[in-house]
Amino acid sequence: MLQSAYEGVGANPARAKNSREVKDMYEDKTLVCKECGKEFIFTAGEQEFYAEKGFQNEPQRCKECRYARKNAAKPEREMFVATCARCGGEAKVPFQPTEGRAVYCSECFAQMKEERDS
Ligand SMILES: [Zn+2]
Ligand SMILES: [Zn+2]
Repeated sequence: MLQSAYEGVGANPARAKNSREVKDMYEDKTLVCKECGKEFIFTAGEQEFYAEKGFQNEPQRCKECRYARKNAAKPEREMFVATCARCGGEAKVPFQPTEGRAVYCSECFAQMKEERDS
């Protein structure tokens, strides 16, 4: 009677977790940017990259905010002031405006891009 209680107890190799499952635990995740409050996707690939680099924390900011911060940390590029060909406002561009070439302010540029993409 007592002997039968030990049956089936012990190492069960079939149950051991294999390393393949570790990779499968990465799933796209929706995080909220602490800077602008927008939701952004922390992709499985990014999570893997973070894990590989040994980063303990999830990203706090969306790509745009991270990018903006990265750029803000750099010394400012020389900007040229021109007149926006669309709204007539001040357009700051990172290149010397060429005579006869339309220059747009960032808002108009973004709007035009949106219009073109849609
Ligand atoms: Zn953001
Ligand atoms: Zn403009």
